[in-house]
Amino acid sequence: MNLFSLLERTARQWPDGGAVYLGDERVQTWASLRHRSLVLAGALSAFGPAGSRVAVASENAPAYLELMFGTWAAGGAVVPLNYKLHAKEMAQIVEDADAAVVFASPALAPALQAALPSPWRGRIVVTGTPGYESLFQGEPAAVAATDPQSLAWLFYTSGTTGRSKGAMLSHRSLMSMTLGHLADVETIDETCSQIHAAPMSHGSGLYIPAYVARGARQVVPASQGFDPAEFLALCDSHPGCGAFLAPTMVQRLRLAAQASGHLPAQLRTIVYGGGPMYVEELRKSLAVFGQVFVQIYGQGESPMTITWVRREDHASGDEAILGSVGVARTGVEVRVIGEDGADVPPGEIGEIIVRGDVVMAGYWNNASGTAEALRDGWLHTGDMGSLDPRGYLTLRDRSKDVVISGGSNIYPREVEEALLTHTGVAEVSVVGQADEEWGEVVVAFIVVAPGEDVTPQALDAHCLDRIARFKRPKRYLFLDALPKNSYGKVLKRQLREQLAAGGTR
Ligand code: AMP
Repeated sequence: MNLFSLLERTARQWPDGGAVYLGDERVQTWASLRHRSLVLAGALSAFGPAGSRVAVASENAPAYLELMFGTWAAGGAVVPLNYKLHAKEMAQIVEDADAAVVFASPALAPALQAALPSPWRGRIVVTGTPGYESLFQGEPAAVAATDPQSLAWLFYTSGTTGRSKGAMLSHRSLMSMTLGHLADVETIDETCSQIHAAPMSHGSGLYIPAYVARGARQVVPASQGFDPAEFLALCDSHPGCGAFLAPTMVQRLRLAAQASGHLPAQLRTIVYGGGPMYVEELRKSLAVFGQVFVQIYGQGESPMTITWVRREDHASGDEAILGSVGVARTGVEVRVIGEDGADVPPGEIGEIIVRGDVVMAGYWNNASGTAEALRDGWLHTGDMGSLDPRGYLTLRDRSKDVVISGGSNIYPREVEEALLTHTGVAEVSVVGQADEEWGEVVVAFIVVAPGEDVTPQALDAHCLDRIARFKRPKRYLFLDALPKNSYGKVLKRQLREQLAAGGTR
């Protein structure tokens, strides 16, 4: 079983259907995407043996589709790189993955070339050039016979808490993810479109197999990224639009829609996840866009698939459900365990562990990391949470983000939720700062909402009304923007380092 089979069936069913779009322009039909992928599969043998890693360093681009399916048809594994990484970080991943070839966009290729060692055993091919197009001149190859356990995607984690690691995702894992998406998250058919506004190297790209399996359009915005106004316009011109967005992108989309009064005509589903969605923001977004939201909780090690909050659950308005990450996905077992490894009772906080076909095989070339993450067949996520009696999981924080002050565990998310209900707070991130007396104290970084004026005293009073005294921040620091990685995740590590270095006002 090879993920290419999903494209094969769709191309047979709708050969002339629009497959890939750049903005409003159609660039591939299903038949031409299939053909180009198979020809590329043949050409890839010149770079390395079957099973080679094929890295992609590109902004969101139509070429992603043929590179992904071409690599799979050849029996290789894709290594999509986050295009906002520094060239040196990209080069580090390319070397760690021992990629045979990197397909790099014209904008990224020069810096990446310079950052790779010289000589380097692999090759760089620049997408869109005559050299790249020459790879599509030959005959279509036969799809490689593929063991379902073989590597399909080497997924480098975003590394918010440490150095990026390569999660090994097999054809079976990604097929399980795809079936789970179609079973739980949304119904997709050939009248739908997937808008790639979030990085195709991450969540948006992981949803490609599910949308391709149903013959839904692949739409890459002309900006090759996320521009809220452009996204709203694309949802007018393409049918049945669905997208994966990080919570911070949902907020930007809502603000843009409210400011312009432009409500997308054909927006069907927004799947959000990858970071906390605060209840306050969710309520505002539901009020603007209606019942289009589905939440997923996953991580590179269990791609897009641990728990989900159904569309119907969003309609319930139940505060506990809206603040949760939902229930275990179909085909996945989820437990919350204490330090002794036993399940904790409902309502108590412990580490979230996961088991299922979707879970990675381990980390690439990292036996100690694998042994730490995979124990007795369970993935230890490093996330802390609690289950309620109905099976709804509430995510607290990554274990490394929990603040321990005066011997009490404080979960930053709870403090952040409380602060966000203050009208003057646009964004907030709460971290711990080392303190001689308390061990750690709670510090809140605040981005003030435009036109508002807030004082630490006002925020302190606001917290006193909502959360236990010991949880409230001892310090408030005001920033113009929170540091985020390219997936929109707040870099708490950077905030902690900033505090430790004393570089804050
Ligand atoms: P990554 O492997 O880069 O996708 O990061 C995965 C991590 O993002 C998880 O381990 C969680 O800490 C966080 N995360 C993912 N989904 C959610 C969600 N729905 N709500 C809150 N945090 C999330």
